[in-house]
Parts: sequence; structure tokens; C-alpha cells
Amino acid sequence: MNKLPASIPLSAEVVIIGAGIAGCALAARLARAGMDVILFERDKFPRDKLCGEFLSGEFQGLLEELGCLDEILAHNPAPMERLRLTTMGGTHVELPLGAPGLGLSRSLLDTQLADYAQRCGARVIFEAQVTGMYQEPWGRTIVQVCREGVEPTLEVQAGLVVGAYGRRTSLDRILGRPSFDKRSPWLAFKRHHVAHFSPERSHLLEELRGVVELHSFKGGYCGVSLVESDVVNVCLLLHKDCLASLPTVSWDSIKHYIGTSNTELRRRLGSLEASRPMLSVAQISLAQKERHQSNVLFVGDAATMIAPLAGDGQAMALHSALMLAELIVGARFAVPSAAWDRQWERRFRTRLAVARGLHETLVRGWATALAVPTVKRFPWLGRMLIRLTRGKAKPRSTRAKVLEVASPGAAITT
Ligand SMILES: Cc1cc2nc3c(=O)[nH]c(=O)nc-3n(C[C@H](O)[C@H](O)[C@H](O)COP(=O)(O)OP(=O)(O)OC[C@H]3O[C@@H](n4cnc5c(N)ncnc54)[C@H](O)[C@@H]3O)c2cc1C
Repeated sequence: MNKLPASIPLSAEVVIIGAGIAGCALAARLARAGMDVILFERDKFPRDKLCGEFLSGEFQGLLEELGCLDEILAHNPAPMERLRLTTMGGTHVELPLGAPGLGLSRSLLDTQLADYAQRCGARVIFEAQVTGMYQEPWGRTIVQVCREGVEPTLEVQAGLVVGAYGRRTSLDRILGRPSFDKRSPWLAFKRHHVAHFSPERSHLLEELRGVVELHSFKGGYCGVSLVESDVVNVCLLLHKDCLASLPTVSWDSIKHYIGTSNTELRRRLGSLEASRPMLSVAQISLAQKERHQSNVLFVGDAATMIAPLAGDGQAMALHSALMLAELIVGARFAVPSAAWDRQWERRFRTRLAVARGLHETLVRGWATALAVPTVKRFPWLGRMLIRLTRGKAKPRSTRAKVLEVASPGAAITT
């Protein structure tokens, strides 16, 4: 799968940029509907990715709709039924998740999805970074692609271009997206661990079975959960001002800092041993972004990211890809940008706003200290908030019907 083809075809009906969840799902769906699709991915798979790696119940329903739930479940994701929330003051609350979630590493999930897109008929090209694009006078777009170690830059003609390239890349600047200029003070870190198996500590691993933990600390929050059977993912969001107080930006200093204001978190981190290198990213922005710009449609995080604590970004990426596939197939000879705007707003506005509100609460110690006892007293409130950060997948039959009517090879132009 990672081998580059001898030559890249020079045109496609749809070019998709980025083989994350949104890009792979869209490519699979469009290829299954008979469209000629190329998916460019800058990395070589499998690759690790910064993410909490919690898959919401909604995600599983959407995977089923995409047609590859069983093959993902075959990789033994860790089941999760409860959310455990701890605060700086030492209180904690446990809530049922409603629909149970799963813990699965992104290196595994994304590789499987890219493989599935290929089997559906999409051409997936790895180590191929899209570096720019321009418009031809007669409406088609030329996508410029830089392949690892290959000169010169390739030019690929596309009927439609979809940006599924995640939160933020230099393409945003090249496309002139106003959202690129909005700065964000949030950074994120992730590291995989193994649990200590010493008898006195093994109960800490048992505590994690069936649970996703969310710990608030001064200047951010941290998720801890199992992925697969005995790997523990620690993923946190941190305000940049907190870094200034650290002697160095290393995992040990971050671990020390976040454990200082939350004893439960300190205890949890003490039970774990790092097994993979730390990943970090800056500029985690929750601001609204454009859903289209310069004839490019955006999907997944490229179209707006939900606050990480919601644990629903992957489901939103997948859901938005299925919605966009339906629109593209239905639109046939036009870029469905206005319809895409409307659908996106209708489907995701509420959960984005609720998740942003929860994010604001969790990063303020006093607000969390008030919220947790309230949720403890009125558990229905917590369940309702969790529900509001989730969407409902559209009934399977509706979407399937739309895709069935697409004739193989149906062309779309801008
Ligand atoms: C700290 C943190 C914790 C999170 N925790 C969770 C969680 O627990 N559960 C959850 O559901 N969500 C979580 N999320 C959100 C989730 O990671 C994203 O919503 C999801 O990855 C979005 O998928 P995507 O396909 O839109 O983009 P991505 O997964 O980011 O994929 C984009 C792909 O595009 C490729 N790419 C980028 N630029 C180019 C280019 N120029 N040319 C070619 N390829 C390119 C990248 O290499 C990448 O493979 C978290 C996010 C953060 C920041």
C-alpha cells in the first residue's frame, strides 16, 4: 500500500487531499458510487497521530454505514461504557456514556480506512503532499503535488477538489482562508504508555477497563484511556502560558506540571510507563472555518474542529464525509457549496457550540469545581450534555438510495 505507483494519472473527477478519517471515507464512498477519485496523503502509513483515540458510539454506526465496521472491530478496540471526570479539588464523577465507545489507535484505524478506500476503487497515493493549486480558465482545477524524493512537482487536473487535510496546514494560507489568520493559544500532546504490571499497581490498569477518563488541571485537561487491549493513551490540551513556567518542554516536565494540580491525575500518570515518543501540535483552534473557498470544499477538521473533550471529532469527520459524498453524487455537474454550508450548519452547529461551552468550563478551575458537584447531584444533566455533543447518523436507507442512483463514471465539473 505504501509503494508509489510508477506514474500518477494526470486527471481525476475528484481529488481529495488528506487520507485521515474524512478523506478515506469520502474517497471510499465516491469510488463506490463509480467516480474516479484520487486521494493524496503526505505521510507514509501506518503513522501515529495526535488524538485521544476515543471512538464515540456514533462513530460505530457511521462505520457500519460506510461498510467496514466488522473489519475495524476485528482489531480488538477497547470497549468503554463510562466517563470518569476528575477535578483539581479532588472530586470526581462517573457518568454512563449512553452509547458505548471504543479505544483504537489512529495508526491502525487510518491504515484500515485507507486500505478500505483502495478496495472500493479509489487511488490512494502516499508520501504525496499537495502544495498548491490553481484554476484553469475553463473551470477545472490543477492540483500541484510534491512526492517524496521525486522532481518536478506533478500537476493533476481535477473536476472537484476536496480538502480533508485536517486542522491546519500551509494550504490554508495558500488558499487564502481567513480562518488561517486566527491564532490559538492551545497546544496538544499525546503519548502512548504501557501500564506497570507490578502487583501493587496492576489494579490501576483494571480501573481503566471500560472507562474513559477526563482530568482537569490548571490550564487544560487530559484524557486517559485504553486503546486496544493494554496500551494506554494519554492526550492533553494545554494553554501556551503554562509552558512558560516549565524548565523545558519535555514529557517529564509536562507530566509533573499537570499532576501538581490534580492528585487523581498524578496517581494515574504514576502508574504508567511511556512506550512511544511524545507527539505535539500547536494552534489547536476551535474557531469556525470556511466550508468552501476558491472552488475547494472542506470536510472533517478542515471544515471546523469540535473541542477535543467531546471525543466526537472522528465521528464528525466521518459523518461529514458521508454527507458530502451524498451531495457530490447528487450534484453531478456543479460544486454543491451553498448546499454544503446549509447541511453543515444544520447538522453540526449545536454540538460544536455545546462542546465549546464544556471546553470553556473545564479549562476554568472554579467552573469545573461548580459543575462537577452539580452533575453529581443531577446525573441526568451530565447525560444530557454528553448527548448534545453527539449527533445521530442519518437512517441508512436514505443515503444508500441516493448513492445507488449514481451511474458509474458520472462526471462532475466545477
Ligand atoms: C488533543 C486532541 C484530542 C482529540 N481526541 C479525540 C478523541 O478522543 N476522539 C475523537 O473522536 N476525536 C478526537 N480529536 C479530534 C480528531 O483527532 C479529529 O477530529 C480527526 O482526526 C479529524 O479527522 P480528519 O480526517 O478531518 O483530519 P486528520 O485526521 O487530521 O487527517 C488529515 C490528513 O491529511 C494529511 N494532510 C495534511 N496536509 C496534507 C497535504 N498538503 N497533502 C496531502 N495530505 C495532507 C495528514 O497527513 C492527515 O493524514 C482530538 C483532537 C485533538 C487535537
